[in-house]
Amino acid sequence: MSDCIFCRIAAGEIPAKKLYEDEHVLAFHDINPVAPVHFLVIPKLHVPSMAELGPEHVEVMGQVMTTVARLARENGCGEGFRTIINTGRVGRQEVYHLHVHVLGGPDVLPAMLKR
Ligand code: 5GP
Ligand code: ZN
Repeated sequence: MSDCIFCRIAAGEIPAKKLYEDEHVLAFHDINPVAPVHFLVIPKLHVPSMAELGPEHVEVMGQVMTTVARLARENGCGEGFRTIINTGRVGRQEVYHLHVHVLGGPDVLPAMLKR
């Protein structure tokens, strides 16, 4: 999947400001933040979008979501945050490697609505 930008970030071929990394999960700051806190959490495994998730992804997606919770706490989102997963054309997905947006800060309501 060398044509996938997030696979290339996971492989270290493209630089990113990483927040956390283990064998299966990677978190990094969004290159174009729309909130004071805006990072992405991805499975290292290439899954194009949420629409392709199946039973084989239960464990890694559990790891993704618990990583979201921990990193939100550790990055100043103790009063709450917004998570967004854009899926497919209708969901206005731009990068086809499943990722969870985590948006935090004083006013995240307007962020990422993509009107
Ligand atoms: P989507 O619309 O697919 O949910 O959002 C893709 C997100 O990936 C966008 O917020 C965009 O700013 C971010 N993004 C795209 N390319 C890169 C990149 O090369 N590095 C980083 N850190 N973020 C990226
Ligand atoms: Zn990928």
